[in-house]
Amino acid sequence: MIQVDMDKCTGCRVCFNVCPQDVIKMENKKAYIENYVNCMECGACALNCEYNAINLTKGTGCLGAIIREDILKIRQKATGCGCGDDKKLTGCC
Ligand code: SF4
Ligand code: SF4
Repeated sequence: MIQVDMDKCTGCRVCFNVCPQDVIKMENKKAYIENYVNCMECGACALNCEYNAINLTKGTGCLGAIIREDILKIRQKATGCGCGDDKKLTGCC
């Protein structure tokens, strides 16, 4: 679980810039959590916040993110064999 303490947040944008998963957004010069389901709980945001405004409790975020990414990869592969991808041939699927 991740939370931003709005009273401590100065809007410096560091967490927004370091998050590899596009979880953190900025609004009215404050950080907020928008895409929590994508959070890997890597801790980069909390570690880099000089104002100690981010509270991160480790849970299953990393595992959840890995599973979701794997599921997305499986779905992408399941859309066809790729035989018509070059646009020159009519594919079989
Ligand atoms: S790094 Fe900390 S102070 Fe800076 S925007 Fe993020 S939460 Fe706010
Ligand atoms: S813990 Fe990592 S993935 Fe989650 S919001 Fe912070 S920087 Fe982004």
